Amino acid sequence: MDFSEPERATRLKSELEEFIETEIRPLEEEHGRFLGPDAERHIFDDEFRQVPEYLDLKETIRKKAAEAGFWGMTMPEEVGGRGVDTLTDAIVAEFLANRPAGLHTYAVRGAGGGPTPILLACDEGQRERYLEPLMAGEATTCFALTEPEHGSDPNFLETTAEKDGDEWVIDGKKAWVSNAPYADFAMVFARTSGDPGEIRGISCLLVDTDTEGVEVGEIHRPMGHAWVAPAELVFEDCRVGEDALLGEEGKGFFQAMDWIGSARLGVAAGCVGSADFLVREAVEYAEGRETFGQPLIERQGISFPLAEVAMDVERTRQLYRYAAWKVDNGEDARKEVAMAKLAAANLEQRAADVAMQVHGGEGYSRRGPVEERFRTARGKRLTEGTDEMQKRTIVQELRE
Ligand SMILES: Cc1cc2nc3c(=O)[nH]c(=O)nc-3n(C[C@H](O)[C@H](O)[C@H](O)COP(=O)(O)OP(=O)(O)OC[C@H]3O[C@@H](n4cnc5c(N)ncnc54)[C@H](O)[C@@H]3O)c2cc1C
Repeated sequence: MDFSEPERATRLKSELEEFIETEIRPLEEEHGRFLGPDAERHIFDDEFRQVPEYLDLKETIRKKAAEAGFWGMTMPEEVGGRGVDTLTDAIVAEFLANRPAGLHTYAVRGAGGGPTPILLACDEGQRERYLEPLMAGEATTCFALTEPEHGSDPNFLETTAEKDGDEWVIDGKKAWVSNAPYADFAMVFARTSGDPGEIRGISCLLVDTDTEGVEVGEIHRPMGHAWVAPAELVFEDCRVGEDALLGEEGKGFFQAMDWIGSARLGVAAGCVGSADFLVREAVEYAEGRETFGQPLIERQGISFPLAEVAMDVERTRQLYRYAAWKVDNGEDARKEVAMAKLAAANLEQRAADVAMQVHGGEGYSRRGPVEERFRTARGKRLTEGTDEMQKRTIVQELRE
């Protein structure tokens, strides 16, 4: 059994490191106000919309990342990606989270509404209209599944898409859609046939967000994750052509679950990276901080919780890597992926809590890295399936 990191992952990480240092670091220095304790005050206007300068900056980073081959790296080569495998992608997600937060986290990977394998179902016209600009970093998208009344149970979604001649007419409301206010097009999941609860009969439609009948509704004000800009998308008599349907009619639920399944591993790996970062920060702080004439790290009340989190980091790292390895080998990994996401999200939250305790009041301040990670870590127990939904999946697999 070989536990060493695959060479392709090590190579990609060092390429990324160089890219961040040469392309992103100068932008971070120039636009320092978008980082640090006052970042949110500069990023958002009074209505919690991201300001144009910040959106332009994200676009610049996105295009640089696309040109350098990082933006759509998990997509196959035939559509301009690099065909990076699941394990390598997850290791890169861990690597990116295991460093001080910076602008690279917004655009190189993930939260920017970038390319997703769902769009491999695009026909030729859709590829040209949606996938190509997305791969080039010229456009962004959003994944519109959740609704105000249905999150964990998307098979009960109430948004409908009905055929009227050669058009689809979409009506309904989506909620918590990341990047919704800025996306050029949305992947919208709507019922095209069947009854509430049926997993067949849900379809995915690609909708330009400037289509008549689509509006951004309330912009949610999340506790953490502010930069992913989750918001409502409201559809009222929104008419799109027949060619808006992505892939086969009635298969949208399966497409959505595939998307969520692959995103889960990225979340898990990112949580492991962030937890590792928090442990290292806390150890360094505890070595430097003295109370009662001795460094904090000499107190077992402080150091033992760090040892426990460090142990959990290592075992959760092995778990997500095992799950990714199974995916890459074509094995059914639903159970392991759910376990990795569940374990990692809880791990990061605990790591942030321990790190905050070790830092004392300093940890509670927006000055340092712990406070923001503490808030964002909590959200990871909700996104891409809540803790309870991961447990539900694990039990389903145990019963099969
Ligand atoms: C930062 C952020 C970004 C997001 N981005 C997106 C996005 O881009 N696109 C998108 O479509 N959605 C997105 N979401 C929505 C997210 O997927 C949902 O919040 C999540 O699925 C939970 O749904 P809900 O909030 O409606 O909770 P509910 O489904 O109402 O659940 C409430 C609670 O009850 C529990 N629960 C529900 N059913 C059961 C059961 N049968 N047994 C036991 N417990 C149960 C849940 O686990 C949860 O703890 C995002 C959410 C957040 C916080």
